[in-house]
Amino acid sequence: MELLFATQNQNKLIEIQNILGNAFNLISLNDVSINIEVPENQNTIEGNALEKVKFVFEKTGKNCFADDTGLEVFALNGEPGVNSARYAGSDKNSDNNISLLLSKLDGKDNREARFKTVIALILNGNEYLFEGLIYGTITDEKRGTHGFGYDPVFIPNGYNITFAEMPIEEKNKISHRAIA
Ligand code: IMP
Repeated sequence: MELLFATQNQNKLIEIQNILGNAFNLISLNDVSINIEVPENQNTIEGNALEKVKFVFEKTGKNCFADDTGLEVFALNGEPGVNSARYAGSDKNSDNNISLLLSKLDGKDNREARFKTVIALILNGNEYLFEGLIYGTITDEKRGTHGFGYDPVFIPNGYNITFAEMPIEEKNKISHRAIA
């Protein structure tokens, strides 16, 4: 079955294609010639996933889904949350985002956090929302070189290594996106 994933990010497309397996033939925005940035102007992760999928459905009429993810840190009242990509500025720089996060957590005992992914799906005209949560803790310093974003400072519960210290296949089996 063909399913349109509202992303221009080839790495994400491959990650999700691997999770879904052969029953689905994923295509991306590049395959339907949508080159403009898909709007994500909402103030919640759910809102952004829905905004993106509705935009793409209106443009294409195809069965499609969109995802949105954020890191929620409990001692920071859920920050960076929906602002995870641009936490330290509009250039979406992961090193700066991590530095800001670690400085805000400096001296705090509670380092619990979770990644949250929401996937919004429009299938045969019906809307569905799926949520994937993975809980863990934030380290004091960066560890590991795999992955992206906040991976070097997130240790999932039950492990003693960060996402960035895991082989990418292992992270992709247990991640918030895989659960969603
Ligand atoms: P997006 O909604 O998937 O674009 O994710 C928004 C931001 O959350 C990204 O720019 C990253 O900073 C962060 N993020 C999302 N997924 C992950 C992940 O699997 N590991 C680390 N950071 C992530």
